[in-house]
Amino acid sequence: MKIPNKMTAMLFEGADQPLRQVELPVPSPGPGQVLLKVLACGVCHTDLHILAGELSRPKLPLILGHQIVAIVAQTGTGVTRFTPGDRVGVPWLGRTDGDCRFCRGGQENLCDRAEFTGYDLDGGFAEYSLADERFCFAIPAGYTPKQAAPLLCAGMIGYRAYRLAGEEAQSMGIYGFGAAAHLITQVAVHQGKDIYAFTRPGDTVAQEFALRMGAIWAGDSTTPPPAPLDAALIFAPVGSLVVAALKATRKGGTVVCGGIHMSDIPSFPYHLLWEERIVRSVANLTRRDGEEFLALAPQVPVRTETVAFPLVQANQALEFLRSGDLTGAAVLLVDEAPDSL
Ligand SMILES: [Zn+2]
Ligand SMILES: [Zn+2]
Repeated sequence: MKIPNKMTAMLFEGADQPLRQVELPVPSPGPGQVLLKVLACGVCHTDLHILAGELSRPKLPLILGHQIVAIVAQTGTGVTRFTPGDRVGVPWLGRTDGDCRFCRGGQENLCDRAEFTGYDLDGGFAEYSLADERFCFAIPAGYTPKQAAPLLCAGMIGYRAYRLAGEEAQSMGIYGFGAAAHLITQVAVHQGKDIYAFTRPGDTVAQEFALRMGAIWAGDSTTPPPAPLDAALIFAPVGSLVVAALKATRKGGTVVCGGIHMSDIPSFPYHLLWEERIVRSVANLTRRDGEEFLALAPQVPVRTETVAFPLVQANQALEFLRSGDLTGAAVLLVDEAPDSL
C-alpha cells in the first residue's frame, strides 16, 4: 500500500472553536502500533463534550474521533495481531498500563493511566491514524465501514450499560434515543426484553424511530411508563433524567447512566432511591465488552442507521448531532472507495 507523506485532518485546537481543516504529516507507527488508513469514523456525544470544554483535559492540538474503521497500512515493530490490508476498528479505550489494580482486577476501563482515542491520543477525523494493536478489533464481515463505525462506541459502551443493568431485567427504559439506544434496543429485543423508549417531549420522530427499532412503547421523558421498569439506561446527558428514571423504576431496579458527562442531577426525595434501587454510571469499555458486542452484533443482526458526512464536513456533522435532530448515528466517511463488506 502506497502511503503519502501528507494527510488531511480536522484539528481541534481549543474549546468552542470549530475544527480546522489542515494538512499534517502522516505519522509513522512505533513499536506495537499500526498505521491505519481511515475509511470511516463515527461522531459521538463525547466529541461534543470535548468541543464544549466539558471534558477539560484533551491533548492539544487534537484529532477527535474514537469510532474508527480502517485498513492497516503499515505495522510497527513487534506487531503480531494484524498485517497490512486487515480491516480493524479502534474504540475509545486506546491504551492502558496493564498493571494498575484496576487492570489486574478485570476493570481496565477504569485504568489509572488509560489513554483514550480522540482525547489523549489522536483519533480518526483524519485520513490516517495510529493505534496500539492490542486495543484494535477485527470488524465483523457483513458491515460496511459506515455501518460498522457506530458499533465501536455507541454499540460497545451501550452494550456495557445494557449488561450492567442486569440480565434479569425484563422491562427496560431507555432515555435518549440516539446512536447507542438504537443499537442496544435491537440487542435487547433479540434477547426477549421489552424496551420503553423515552425522548425529548414532543420528539415524535425519535419515538417513531424507537418503535421501528423494536421498542414496545415510546413516549416523552416527562411521561411515566405504563408499568414500572425493571431497569433504565440513560444515554442523554441530562441530569434530571436520573430522577425521572428512578421514579419509573421498580423496587430493587437499576438506573444506569451511560454517558461520560451529564448536567447536574437535581436533588430528589430519598424515597425514590429507597427500596434498594441502584443508580450507577458506566465508564469507558473493556476489550471484553468490545469482543462480546462484536460477536453478538452479526447474530442479532444489529443494523446501524447512519447519516454520513465527508471528513471535511466534520463541523456540520457535530452541529447536526448537537441539534438532536439526527436519527441514528453520524459518521464521517473518510475514504468511500473501499466501502466493501
Ligand atoms: Zn463515544
Ligand atoms: Zn491500568
